[in-house]
Amino acid sequence: MSADYAVHGEIAVITLNNPPVNGLGLATRQAFMQGLNKAMADDAVKAVVVTGAGKAFSGGADIKEFGSPKAIQEPHLLNLISAIENASKPVVAAIHTVAMGGGLELALGCHYRIAAPSTDVALPEVKLGLIPGAGGTQRLPRVLGVEPALNMIVSGEPIKSDMLAMLPGQKLFDQMATSASSLMEEAMAFAQSVVGTSPLPRVRDLPCKHPNADAFFKFSTNMVNGMTKGKYPAPLKCIEAVQNATKMKFDDGMAAEREIFTNLMWTPECRALRHLFVAQRATSKIADVPADTPVRNIQSVAVIGAGTMGGGISMNFLNAGIPVKMLEMKQEALDKGLAIIDKNYQAQVKKGKLKEDKFQQRMSLLSTTLNYEDLKDADLVIEAVFEELGVKEQVFKKLDEVMKPGAILASNTSTLDVNAIAHFTQRPQDVVGLHFFSPANVMKLLEVVRGAATGKDVMATVMGVAKKIKKTAVVSGVCDGFIGNRMIEQYSRQAGFLIEEGCTPQQVDRAVEKFGFAMGPFRMGDLAGNDIGWAIRKRRYVEKPELKYSKTADLLCEQGRFGQKVGKGWYDYLPGKRDAIPNKDVEDMIAKHRATLGITPRKISDDEIVQRLVFSLVNEAAFILEEGIAARASDIDMVYITGYGFPIYRGGPMMYADQFGLFNVVQAMHRFAQNPHDDAQFWQPAPLLARLVAEGKTFN
Ligand code: NAD
Repeated sequence: MSADYAVHGEIAVITLNNPPVNGLGLATRQAFMQGLNKAMADDAVKAVVVTGAGKAFSGGADIKEFGSPKAIQEPHLLNLISAIENASKPVVAAIHTVAMGGGLELALGCHYRIAAPSTDVALPEVKLGLIPGAGGTQRLPRVLGVEPALNMIVSGEPIKSDMLAMLPGQKLFDQMATSASSLMEEAMAFAQSVVGTSPLPRVRDLPCKHPNADAFFKFSTNMVNGMTKGKYPAPLKCIEAVQNATKMKFDDGMAAEREIFTNLMWTPECRALRHLFVAQRATSKIADVPADTPVRNIQSVAVIGAGTMGGGISMNFLNAGIPVKMLEMKQEALDKGLAIIDKNYQAQVKKGKLKEDKFQQRMSLLSTTLNYEDLKDADLVIEAVFEELGVKEQVFKKLDEVMKPGAILASNTSTLDVNAIAHFTQRPQDVVGLHFFSPANVMKLLEVVRGAATGKDVMATVMGVAKKIKKTAVVSGVCDGFIGNRMIEQYSRQAGFLIEEGCTPQQVDRAVEKFGFAMGPFRMGDLAGNDIGWAIRKRRYVEKPELKYSKTADLLCEQGRFGQKVGKGWYDYLPGKRDAIPNKDVEDMIAKHRATLGITPRKISDDEIVQRLVFSLVNEAAFILEEGIAARASDIDMVYITGYGFPIYRGGPMMYADQFGLFNVVQAMHRFAQNPHDDAQFWQPAPLLARLVAEGKTFN
């Protein structure tokens, strides 16, 4: 049973009981309906209280059912709500902790609502590319007023029950409970007090008016258009649905809501957002590391190296209230690192994002040392020193000497072999890669690099730590570049070919940014530092001389145009500014290089640019997936969404490829392979990709 039924005196209590958040899946709806029917049939029952067990009233629909036959199997949520609304005895919703989506819509179908303080109330469907689909757009404006309701529906953000209860004239809550613990008692008393009421109040019967409806909806539409720039259809549809509530009869508004909901369900944006919702939750699952794997206790952290990454990494732990000790070789380096952390926090204080006392509290958790002995009691140590295997070797040998048994030893290396690093110690089971992204205090992504010997308890522990510091952790196997950078290398190679064939950096960046990336490849190169890619290419020229590369980026680096940090790269930058200004010398350099290669530049369409870049990611990802470096395609999508600025509404490269059609992807690759200036080898479909096409399957 996923809803419980009990009778106390004249009151029946139906308790949603489907952990963790009482999602309204089919079994729960069926059990609820049975309870409601029982209560109506029982003459001794005079009123009903509806509530949720555990840590939620209800988190809403069961997203796993979306698009499946179960979602529409009776009792459908709409019909369940309608049965409540038309019940002959009063139904009181006792709301606590979380009332979201379908959960809130169910409560809106009840005759009365009583809420515990601090309950999170939301209609978050817009975040999945949808509108509320069980009456939310029609009922919420009737109880809250059009403007507050529309704000909630368009933003999807939760609002505390106490705040909502203060809105003038609100009819969402008939009563606020004194506390969460007294909610049920007060709800029972309330139910008793309304026994025999006739007719019963129904939200659908309330008026829905706005004094300046046309102007208000026009204004809202302009606002939303400005924010979504045509990329997300759902917010505009939220406005349309709420506007319907002010213009149409209730049942007509409901029918229109359903139609909009159903149409949105299969848009690429909604599919992408639903995919990411599930993908986000899947990242933490490791097939051979069950949820009950024992974890190590992480109470304190040490960070080796107080440079760009060491400082940012430390801030994550300070923010989570975990003490950090930073180690450097020289006092000046420590002072410099400390000053940067201090400055970053000060900036947050200035912007009003961090309170002064919180700032002081965080800084008080931070200490520094030049002596490894001082680190020995740390539960987790993260190394972020120079990217040289020799330096890492020194550090890990030293750590092996001093750290207490059971401490986790992590490296933030971007490219080096985590297995080799593990074997600098006598305890490879305790070694793991924790690949943060720059700026480490901001970027959500954390690649957790699992070495051949990394212990399962270490994996379980660091995945938990990642959650604590609010990162999206994705597990990667050991390979050059791990998931994200291994893919981006192919993307950068392809960007080089595009330049050689006739594109300007601006044209490529513009096309990619129009597609939705936060930044095109050349602006990204300037931001990260073109010298980093140069160093990698120099290594590749030796290791893999058979690989074709465009030399344009090398020529750029030979001129010292390393990017933003030196004020010039593919573009010029004014001091203290990030605007990319095209540079004539760079264009001439590119043209001259083309001429030496005998290439007559051709006009390349934005579609071709985007496809060549995105499919170069996809093909490498197919290798990564088949080699088991990534456990699932959706993990790769999460890497690109949270670490590389891939457009959210496209769901990540793998989801994009699935929606584009893998057959079409491979066809395009064959076409690109014919291009004399591209690299036919580059466009050989990965075996997994070819197989999926042959079998008519998708990545996800
Ligand atoms: P950085 O040069 O800014 O900082 C490195 C720091 O380590 C310096 O302060 C240096 O004094 C210190 N250091 C060097 N050797 C040391 C030793 N033996 N003991 C103690 N301290 C020592 O470099 P960074 O950008 O912070 O990179 C650090 C690591 O993080 C590298 O492995 C790098 O590949 C990786 N990484 C960097 C980025 C990035 O974007 N910068 C992103 C992800 C990972």
